[in-house]
Amino acid sequence: MAGILVYALHDDAGVFNNNSLGAISEAAKLAGEIGGEAAAVVVGEVDDAACAALGGYGASTVYRAKSVPEGLAQPIVDVMAKVITDHGFSYALFGGGLLGFEIGAGLTARLGAGVTMEVTKVKAEDGKLIAERPVLQDSAIVDVGYVSEPGIIIGRLNAFDVKPSGGGDAAVEDIEVELSAWSTKARMVTRGESGDEGGVNIEDADFLVGGGRGLGDKDNFAVARELASALGGEVAATRAVVDAGWIPYSTQIGQTGKTVAPKLYLALGISGAIQHKVGMQNSENIVAINKDQNAPIFEFCDLGVVGDLHKIAPKLTEAIKAKKG
Ligand SMILES: Cc1cc2nc3c(=O)[nH]c(=O)nc-3n(C[C@H](O)[C@H](O)[C@H](O)COP(=O)(O)OP(=O)(O)OC[C@H]3O[C@@H](n4cnc5c(N)ncnc54)[C@H](O)[C@@H]3O)c2cc1C
Repeated sequence: MAGILVYALHDDAGVFNNNSLGAISEAAKLAGEIGGEAAAVVVGEVDDAACAALGGYGASTVYRAKSVPEGLAQPIVDVMAKVITDHGFSYALFGGGLLGFEIGAGLTARLGAGVTMEVTKVKAEDGKLIAERPVLQDSAIVDVGYVSEPGIIIGRLNAFDVKPSGGGDAAVEDIEVELSAWSTKARMVTRGESGDEGGVNIEDADFLVGGGRGLGDKDNFAVARELASALGGEVAATRAVVDAGWIPYSTQIGQTGKTVAPKLYLALGISGAIQHKVGMQNSENIVAINKDQNAPIFEFCDLGVVGDLHKIAPKLTEAIKAKKG
């Protein structure tokens, strides 16, 4: 069966993240083109209705491993390897994100499979999937096919759009998985967001206003919050301001923080250090306001404004509010 298996990540309330829903939507479209089904793996105690609702994004079956904890890669590799082996899935597709990369890499090693990472598009040709992956700092694209099955495809974060399929409920099948010895050597102690901005998932936001040291101090983060609120988005931050205690770690973007890919990333007083860039460079549009015309962020933003953010950002907030009425 030329099926495609997707891992669906959820929070503690059983709400699936957009990145996973996008991967299911993409898998359903591709499965239709290669003549197979799209299915999802869910771990943990997610109720029947929430699992079945993944049918609304195109999953025909949801394999649920209730006793396996969410959030750790190795046990989920065990689950996905079993489902792929038992049911003969041809591909596993991940929406990206740190956990997706970790599980995808583990699954690749376990199954001796081929893998393509940082995929931005997948196409069907002659009943097989071809993954497109940008290389050379996104200046060229390579097409990657698979000479054997299964093939593992790991997308860039939010590379695949969420598209309700209009389909009915997915069939929910409970499975028992015997975990490998090494999969139980680490255990989740706690899981959750921390601090004031807790509960906000910046990885799912379409509009992000990133605040850096150029904001001046903790209280000035209000400038970023007001702009984010006018846009209908969230605030994010650099490590410099997180380390300074201006805002919780859960908002940090970059090498040691989160990877984001919003439709718009608006950087206020952020220099654009490489460690920050790696976490936000896949944003669809990057706008930077910085008073230093030589700031590195101007080398990779789409629109750069040289000036004082304290003068420009409040006016921008007012203009957006006025435009929205
Ligand atoms: C191992 C390692 C891991 C790291 N991981 C991360 C990470 O995950 N994420 C991350 O962000 N960083 C990370 N860093 C830190 C990173 O190297 C930078 O130090 C950090 O990103 C800088 O943050 P910033 O842009 O807020 O501050 P700065 O580099 O100090 O930049 C502030 C900018 O604000 C501008 N500015 C000042 N005043 C104004 C004004 N009034 N109006 C407009 N512009 C103004 C300045 O011109 C300047 O460009 C890491 C570093 C290391 C060594």
